[in-house]
Amino acid sequence: MTSNNGNVVERYLRQNRQLFGDEIYVSFEPVQPDVIVGSESLTEFEESIHDCTRCSLGERRTNFVFGVGDPNADLVCVGEAPGADEDAQGVPFVGRAGRLLDKILASINLSRNNNVYICNVLKCRPPNNRDPLASEVEQCEPYLIRQLDLIKPKLIVALGRVAAKTLLKLDSNIALKDLRNKQHDYYGTKLIATYHPAALLRSDRFKRPTWEDFKWIRSILSTEG
Ligand code: SF4
Repeated sequence: MTSNNGNVVERYLRQNRQLFGDEIYVSFEPVQPDVIVGSESLTEFEESIHDCTRCSLGERRTNFVFGVGDPNADLVCVGEAPGADEDAQGVPFVGRAGRLLDKILASINLSRNNNVYICNVLKCRPPNNRDPLASEVEQCEPYLIRQLDLIKPKLIVALGRVAAKTLLKLDSNIALKDLRNKQHDYYGTKLIATYHPAALLRSDRFKRPTWEDFKWIRSILSTEG
């Protein structure tokens, strides 16, 4: 913990004591992005939140799925939430879709251990793989924001329509085609949207546009120095 963070905690505890005596007051309001400042590394941060039950998904998960990859990555790939394989293994993007994502990354000379970090907006699996609820996103998104703050990537890639519209807080009916080929902004970091690898497994027609997107990703990363 930096001395700055230490000062914040000390000030909070002193104010807490003035207001509530020796009882620690814990707020159950949604976590604000700038509040999660205590951890200095992804490992420390994961350890501090892996027991989270801020939303009901925490009670039903098999495994908390924090993220995997290079902690200093230039590229962070973000899906919507863990699926069945991810919940079983505690690792994001495993199974067929995950293996396809690894192949796509390899095609631009990247891998999940080399300059790429992979995670989801939600860290726990929604039942029957339904879309994340707004209340779940509200509770969990600050964790993603802190992960990104620790990694400091050059580029975020939202994988799939649900991840993209959730991160960009857009209308629920917006189509992915309306989000592709544009640079968006996510709390000061460039974000682009492309197809989820599971979509490519369902239909070949998504393969070419996805390849175009990843060529663009490669060029963005190389021109960003
Ligand atoms: S989905 Fe996120 S907020 Fe909900 S219990 Fe899991 S880690 Fe906590």
